[in-house]
Amino acid sequence: MKQIKANDISRLYFRYQDEFEEKALSVLRSGHYVLGPEVTSFEKEFAAFAGSDFCVGLGSGLDALWLSFRILGIGRGDEVIVPSNTYIASVMGITINGAKPVFVEPDAYFTIDPDKIESKISERTKAILSVNLYGQSCHMQRLREICDTYHLLLIEDSAQSHGAKFDGKFTNTYTDISCFSFYPTKNLGGFGEGGAILTNNPDYDRAFRMYRNYGSEKRYYNQVVGTNSRLDELQAGLLRVKLAHLNETNEERQRLTDRYALEIQNPMILLPKVRPYASSVWHQYVIRCTKRDHLKAYLQEHGVDSIIHYPIPPHLSEAYGYLGFRRGDLPIAEDYADTVLSLPLYNGMTESEQAYVIQILNSYTG
Ligand SMILES: *Cc1c(COP(=O)(O)O)cnc(C)c1O
Repeated sequence: MKQIKANDISRLYFRYQDEFEEKALSVLRSGHYVLGPEVTSFEKEFAAFAGSDFCVGLGSGLDALWLSFRILGIGRGDEVIVPSNTYIASVMGITINGAKPVFVEPDAYFTIDPDKIESKISERTKAILSVNLYGQSCHMQRLREICDTYHLLLIEDSAQSHGAKFDGKFTNTYTDISCFSFYPTKNLGGFGEGGAILTNNPDYDRAFRMYRNYGSEKRYYNQVVGTNSRLDELQAGLLRVKLAHLNETNEERQRLTDRYALEIQNPMILLPKVRPYASSVWHQYVIRCTKRDHLKAYLQEHGVDSIIHYPIPPHLSEAYGYLGFRRGDLPIAEDYADTVLSLPLYNGMTESEQAYVIQILNSYTG
């Protein structure tokens, strides 16, 4: 019996080992460790990659999210629309600032249903936080149109979608601020913590630079109560190596998921669909099955790991008990939480590993 991990990020490390190790040594020997020349170069290169005017490196994806709302002045008394099925960090980015999350259910593509947004807009609504969950672009054009009509800001959580496009354009093209995480398992992942924002607005760019460094632009002159959210040189240098290979590693994920789509043939298993005009960078390949827990156990018995992203939707988490939601309030998100399963997927996954996973999936009879 083979043993297949759900994820193995060391495969990608060893593929480019020489480049990573050379870069790490040069940073260690440089004498610059936080917010230095590697961070500046990474910011330039990531902005250029995504066709954005500005990139600001930060300490994490969560920092990118909560700092966005802080900088935009969105807090107590304000509402932000957010999908009901997301990683809880999206919601925390809103509530850390005291603003209220207003949940909108996803559609068949696991991302926010644009048809359900307008009925949730109130006079308190200030922004939409869209999430390109599992790597797939939301319907960016519709979201932009809704925001323009109702004078809302469009922030996106792109922690899982470095490189995803809508209608041939990077998703950040449509937003006011796009938030990224470089947590090691992300498509563009570092070797520790990291995050960034992209924006075309020079005022936001300046504000993030100030907030990430204790609210100062000039050393020891603190203009606002900021935070410490500085990207470090080692991460930035190593992220530059990974960024140079991002198109190639995203294409590899596309090939792997194309094979899953073609060869998984089991009427009990629902395969993920991609929205028309959208692309996915396949952060996860998420199938659905009504007997999900049973299927997961079956895979495990045959040596195949899988992960549930995510078993509890934010509105039912203990953390958000104070919002007063009950099971049944957001039935689509709840159904997804009960039926989704992420299959093994990583750069460097071999043909025979994938063939084995497919064989086990196709042999499942419930
Ligand atoms: C990973 C992730 C985050 C948080 O990023 P960190 O760098 O871990 O803080 C936020 N939102 C989504 C959707 C994520 O997947």
